[in-house]
Amino acid sequence: MTQPIVLKIGGNDIDNPDFLAGLAAYTACLDVPAIIVHGGGKEIGALQARMGIEPRWVDGLRVTDEETLAVVEMVLCGRVNKRLVRQLVAAGIEAEGLSGADRGLLRACQLHNSQGDLGRVGEVTGVRGGVLLDMLARGITPVIAPLALGDDGEMYNVNADHAAAAIAQAVGARQIVFLTNVSAVLVDDVPQSFISEGEAQRLIDNGTIFGGMIPKVKTALHAVTLGIPQAVITDLPGLQGQAGTVFYSQQQDQQQETTINQGVFWPTASAQTGAGVAY
Ligand code: ADP
Ligand code: MG
Repeated sequence: MTQPIVLKIGGNDIDNPDFLAGLAAYTACLDVPAIIVHGGGKEIGALQARMGIEPRWVDGLRVTDEETLAVVEMVLCGRVNKRLVRQLVAAGIEAEGLSGADRGLLRACQLHNSQGDLGRVGEVTGVRGGVLLDMLARGITPVIAPLALGDDGEMYNVNADHAAAAIAQAVGARQIVFLTNVSAVLVDDVPQSFISEGEAQRLIDNGTIFGGMIPKVKTALHAVTLGIPQAVITDLPGLQGQAGTVFYSQQQDQQQETTINQGVFWPTASAQTGAGVAY
């Protein structure tokens, strides 16, 4: 089977019908098998507001007390996951939704952060990659809500960027795409086609990279050190047009110093393929 890609779908556009239709059409024509992992931060925040819960963040990660965990589970495993699955199935994709708890797909322990207590936020400790590869081999596109099962039998909220990277590593993905609502990492409004680790830390320290972009950039950098050849931060038009911020392993950086875009793998969505992909 062709090495899969992992598509992480951010939460900002996941309730936008035009975005969903575009994503479904793109995914239906992909020439590689895909695993989809999604967030849903905006809708979690909206439901929290309706329930009178004040969202709190540490280092770009959602602090998750018991009440917040209930909201996260309802929104991600319920509404968002099923909306995504519905759209993909309607486009002819054999999409199947599952959370990290289903079949023990994602295992986690509590994530500790030096900047504060995150509550029930998990760090992925194990991924049943074989379950996902079996699904792909049967032509199924897994659509994963990033909650994970703890050794204590409890559910943990996992940042979707973190979950996507752990999954990409477990299945030997050739690329991880962080599909978000910005075309790239921006510095003074200029999209960056490449960012080194040192530069990323400087941009985080001086506040140029903030909020949800912090875990995304850190995870993209970490992903390439885990052996995933390439990580990309982009939006849907960027993915369709093959543009965004691309991260490679350090070794490749040096080799490709002057021609950084050479050898970039981009999945292509072939119009002729139509809905459904034969793996
Ligand atoms: P997602 O749901 O895709 O994970 P997030 O809201 O968590 O999205 O993170 C993306 C957001 O990060 C952008 O919408 C933007 O507001 C913010 N952001 C912070 N720093 C940057 C930056 N330097 N370049 C682009 N976006 C940034
Ligand atoms: Mg985010």
